[in-house]
Amino acid sequence: MISQTIMFKHLYQNPPAAIAFAEGSKVSDEDLKEALKHFEKFYEEIFIELSNYGELKELCVVDNLGDHLIGNVYARFNDEVSASKAFNALAGKYYHSNLVEEEYCPIVKIKDARCRKFEEGTCQRGAFCNFLHLKEVNRSLIKSLKDEMYENHPEYKKNRINNFNKMKQRNHEHSSSDSSLDRYDNYTRKKIIKRWNEDFQVEKKIEEKKKKMAQAKIDLAIIEQKLRNKKKYDEDEKNKNYRNIKREEIYEDSDETISKGDLK
Ligand SMILES: [Zn+2]
Repeated sequence: MISQTIMFKHLYQNPPAAIAFAEGSKVSDEDLKEALKHFEKFYEEIFIELSNYGELKELCVVDNLGDHLIGNVYARFNDEVSASKAFNALAGKYYHSNLVEEEYCPIVKIKDARCRKFEEGTCQRGAFCNFLHLKEVNRSLIKSLKDEMYENHPEYKKNRINNFNKMKQRNHEHSSSDSSLDRYDNYTRKKIIKRWNEDFQVEKKIEEKKKKMAQAKIDLAIIEQKLRNKKKYDEDEKNKNYRNIKREEIYEDSDETISKGDLK
C-alpha cells in the first residue's frame, strides 16, 4: 500500500559515542559534539535528497537501539505521489555503501508515533523502548532546510495553495447546502452525498447547455454581422449605381442646356 510516509530501515549509522550516550553511558562533551555534527550532516544530506522528489513535511531519525528500530529514518511527504517518486528513485540505491532498505509506513504523522515519556524525559525503557525515541533536530536547521527546499522548488508551495483552495471551495460548495456531514448517521450521509453527486451532474449538464447556448449566440452574431456587411455592400453598390446614373443624367441635361443655349 502506498502511503505518504516512507521508512528507511537502519539508514543512519550511529557513531559509537551516540550509542554509548543513548545507552546511558558517560560521554565526553567533545565526543557528543562530534556525534551531533555527524548526525546533522546526515540529516541535511537526506533532507536535501528527499526534497528533490516532493514536498517533505517531516523527517525523523530514531534514537532507539533495538534491533528493528536502530537507525530508522521516517520521511513524510505532503502527498503519496511525492512519496512514491522518492521510493522508486531510491530503490536499489546505496547510501554510504549501505543498500537502502525502504518500505511504506502507515504512520500519518510521525510525531504521533513517538514515545511521549521519552519526550518528557521519563521513559523507563530507555533506548530499547518499542515506541519511537526521535532524535532532536535543531529547529533552525530544519527551518533553513525547508527554506532551501521552497527556494529550489517554488512549485511545492503553489501546489499546496492550489490544493488548499480547491479543498476550501469544495467545503464551501458543500456547506452552502449542508453545513456539516458529521452530524448525520451513515445512511443520511450516503443519501446526502448521492444528492450532491446528482446535483453535480445536473449542474454539469446546465453548464454544458450554457456553453452550447453561448456558442450559438456567437454563431448568430457572426451571421448577423455577415448579413449587415452584405446589406451595407448592396446599399453601397446601389448608391454607386444611383450616383452614376444621376451623373449621367446631369451630363445629358447639361449637354442639352448647352446645345439649347447655343441654339438660342
Ligand atoms: Zn520510550
